[in-house]
Amino acid sequence: MSDGAIFTVQSDPTLLADLRRYGKFDTSGCYQCGSCTISCDLVTDSVNFPRKIIRYALLGLRESLAGSLEPWLCHDCGDCSSICPRQAEPHISMMTVRSFLTAEYDWTGISGKVLRSRAWHIGLLGLITGVTLALIVLYHLWYVGLPFSYFATTQLGLEHMFPMMTYYTRIVLLLPLVLLLSRVYRIQRLTMRGKGRTPIPFSAYVVEAWEYVRHSVTHELMRECPDRSRWLGHWLLALGTVLMLTIKLFALRWFQTDAIHPFYHPQRWLGYLAMALIFYGIGGILVGRIRAQKEFYKQTRFEDLIFPILLLSTALSGIAVHVFRYAGFALTCHFLYALHVVIATPMLLVEMSFGKWSHMIYRPLALYFEAVKERAVRQIPGKEAVPDAA
Ligand code: SF4
Ligand code: SF4
Repeated sequence: MSDGAIFTVQSDPTLLADLRRYGKFDTSGCYQCGSCTISCDLVTDSVNFPRKIIRYALLGLRESLAGSLEPWLCHDCGDCSSICPRQAEPHISMMTVRSFLTAEYDWTGISGKVLRSRAWHIGLLGLITGVTLALIVLYHLWYVGLPFSYFATTQLGLEHMFPMMTYYTRIVLLLPLVLLLSRVYRIQRLTMRGKGRTPIPFSAYVVEAWEYVRHSVTHELMRECPDRSRWLGHWLLALGTVLMLTIKLFALRWFQTDAIHPFYHPQRWLGYLAMALIFYGIGGILVGRIRAQKEFYKQTRFEDLIFPILLLSTALSGIAVHVFRYAGFALTCHFLYALHVVIATPMLLVEMSFGKWSHMIYRPLALYFEAVKERAVRQIPGKEAVPDAA
């Protein structure tokens, strides 16, 4: 957001080409009519998109684009694309900008490679899958002391792997979180500081901190989109995923045990509940993408599909472990658990740390920072929150 101060900006003619390495960004037909912005239910007095974001790209305003929070405020409903008289697909452009920003935020540079190149994306998933498989084999050979020829016949059950598995699970779950949080300072520097921006008092960050929690928990802006059913599926999917990850992080031994519990035991119904929520959410996404009727499902990229598929496979392999354990097939259950770990590890380490799904952290963070900016502007006497002129 500009304060109206006079400062010079440099145009970068390579910006558009850079953006297009992350996906579609069709500006050829756009004549800046603004219909997309008018149609967007999420535009307010102080935030203005997608026209402004398209304009930044057309003018080569790299710093302005990298410092924009608006692409995260867009919830991808696709209304702007339905109304665009030039079929410029502004909601796809916003999606591409979010991939560009995800790469800009990542100091490791891996997000950029994963989001620009399918070969890199698949290669990294394959590498982590291979390393995980190798770790499982080595663990049994050296830690358990099981000769390789006994692998296919020895019924070990699940509990032999504790406490090693507890540490492994915590590392794999917490590493994406640590990586994502390590980017917060960079995001803050890009979006909240710099020439022409309102100085933000620290108190504004403290007072508005609740906004981060509120948006992380409710995803309430998605409810502003005309299709409410999408919000419900999205919210239930997030709830089920967080519930399952929390159980795995804090209560793995209690959850992934060889003990057989009655149906009413919380170990069982909590697991069933998390699975039901995940299946409902993932089912809606996959069916929607296969039907491709709604605007936001009309175009499906590799990165839109890979996480739902990996999450579904993780959930199905987890259920298979449960079923075979209760059916008394200890060896099959053991192999299935290895498969479960082999699928879940790259999903967490690649998709959540470097892929599109890092938006789970970035989107509420952008909403929080936007609230902080608005508070800072309100605190200046006689100043009102206004959108940038671009
Ligand atoms: S993207 Fe379409 S609706 Fe938006 S300003 Fe350009 S032409 Fe108009
Ligand atoms: S996709 Fe929806 S939320 Fe995003 S800019 Fe278009 S109309 Fe607004």
